[in-house]
Amino acid sequence: QDHTPSDIEIARSQTPKDVLELATEVGLQACEVAPYGSKKAKVDLAVLKRLQAAQDGKYIVVAGITPTPLGEGKSTTTIGLCQALGAHCNKNVFACVRQPSQGPTFGIKGGAAGGGWSQVIPMDEFNLHLTGDIHAITAANNLLAAQIDARIFHEATQSDEALYGRLVPAVKGQRAFSKIQLSRLERLGIDKKDPNSLTPEEINKFVRLNIDTNTITWQRVLDTNDRFLRKITIGQSATEKNMTRSCQFDITVASEIMAVLALTTSLEDMRARLGRMVVASDTAGNPVTAEDLGASGALTVLLKDAIRPNLMQTLEGTPVFVHAGPFANIAHGNSSILADKIALKLVGSDGYVVTEAGFGADIGMEKFFNIKCRTSGLVPHCVVLVATVRALKMHGGGPKVLPGTPLPKEYLEENLDLVQKGASNLRKQIENGNLFGVPVVVAINKFATDTEAELALVQREAEASGAARAVVCTHWRDGGRGAKALAEAVQEQCQGQDNHSFRFLYDLTLPIEEKIRSISQKIYGAADISIEPEAQEQIDRYKKQGFNDLPICMAKTHLSFTADPTVKGAPTGFTIPVSQVRASVGAGFLYPIVGTMSTMPGLPTRPCIYDIDLNLETGEVEGLF
Ligand code: ADP
Repeated sequence: QDHTPSDIEIARSQTPKDVLELATEVGLQACEVAPYGSKKAKVDLAVLKRLQAAQDGKYIVVAGITPTPLGEGKSTTTIGLCQALGAHCNKNVFACVRQPSQGPTFGIKGGAAGGGWSQVIPMDEFNLHLTGDIHAITAANNLLAAQIDARIFHEATQSDEALYGRLVPAVKGQRAFSKIQLSRLERLGIDKKDPNSLTPEEINKFVRLNIDTNTITWQRVLDTNDRFLRKITIGQSATEKNMTRSCQFDITVASEIMAVLALTTSLEDMRARLGRMVVASDTAGNPVTAEDLGASGALTVLLKDAIRPNLMQTLEGTPVFVHAGPFANIAHGNSSILADKIALKLVGSDGYVVTEAGFGADIGMEKFFNIKCRTSGLVPHCVVLVATVRALKMHGGGPKVLPGTPLPKEYLEENLDLVQKGASNLRKQIENGNLFGVPVVVAINKFATDTEAELALVQREAEASGAARAVVCTHWRDGGRGAKALAEAVQEQCQGQDNHSFRFLYDLTLPIEEKIRSISQKIYGAADISIEPEAQEQIDRYKKQGFNDLPICMAKTHLSFTADPTVKGAPTGFTIPVSQVRASVGAGFLYPIVGTMSTMPGLPTRPCIYDIDLNLETGEVEGLF
């Protein structure tokens, strides 16, 4: 019988220290910290400059076996490992995790602050609003969306001269180009600074973006699971003169701006990335960007606070950065580069930064290496791969689990046969880590129903499959103390390691198709890929537009190595069908779509909404988990 209290009860049983005290402990100066209340603070990017000469700490990424509905505990293990390193091994440590979307918090998954005695606190602040970064992304995303449709409307209803008069108005009889307009002239090859000297042809080029409405890829976003916004018609008021258009809302964490925030390395870099975001093609087939719409400066203004990482703490008082949370399917599913970089400087050469990659190692870890590390230049020392006995049983052919029904007995009683069969998935994911030249430590996250023989079997299988070490841990039940052996194994792998054996999976200059094939064959175990005609056209267009050399962010189900979420284990001989290829040019990757991917989740019949309430006497949030 398990007597562990609920996640929110545990979270509330510990009073977090004041965030200014925490900031001092980790070596931040008062001028670098902007508290939001007393439990969380924004950290200024200036700290990177102050510490530029300091040596980085060791860099550890937490990944998992292929996810199942039973949950593997990657966030719980990230936090448990940091509590162990910081509070039980006396090391400088930072956990870097994603900010959760409000969609799953009120939908089906619940919160994402870890669980049991390994959590980020206060967990209600962590899971709700935080410091408003996701809201800022919603605001920036929708400002750009509004500007796209407004611009199309104005171009359709005004002459070149009228447009020019409004875009470059005369102030006190003098016209002047803005900074953004000068940069547009330069891109158009019009070498003129005097607004009165443009020829009618030049004015026409300058004022007309000629957006082809059929090619608009920029959508509006909202951080709510609202399935009825998956397809909408806009422009239905008479004031828009019948310029209706069918489009959609995505969830905010699927916005390219979220991926930009996660991958940016400075304010300057963020502005440049925002400007490069392609929103549509013009009628001649050229990309139209946020910069063309004059929006990069305004977007940067809306995101100037969101770019700063948020400082919080674990149940055992060790520091955590919570920053960015891009969707892990159509985006790369990792927290921000800036948080990792600042944390690596703050912990110093003897310290540890533990960052989490969403979904299984084939998705989150692959993108962590090939996209995030490539962009940041950071090189990881060790992969921690989280596995559970229960999830391996499901990979071994265990029965399906239906929400709201009791767990089948296979998951509650010893069944070595299912564990043995499911170990194929663990083996492939260990091999995937090793492909990048990084040692893999397997964290076996123990559940109360696991037997000694089952745990020993997973440990043997992991070590026989190429894991440097495999360790049973009980941090969910015991806090950091329960992950001490894991922390020691991780330290052992990082010591004396120069991480020079780290390598990317593919070269960026390979043709787009070859990069997709490389990931599919080497990471998923596929025999080959198939590219539908629409995807091939898109690939050819991106090559022509000069986007061939971007890394690849596969948009594929995370529940299987194949394109079919019901296929478990580690199958071989299958084909990965690519139906479309899209580009996030500002974030800096191409994303091939395998099968269909939803970018707006829906609410289930019984969402978490039913349980969440405010205790009117204590002011505490109830029902989060
Ligand atoms: P992931 O990051 O892999 O999605 P989480 O760390 O968010 O998984 O954990 C999912 C859920 O499982 C949480 O509610 C957490 O409390 C629970 N959980 C994690 N590890 C254990 C464990 N060892 N025993 C019981 N529950 C656990």
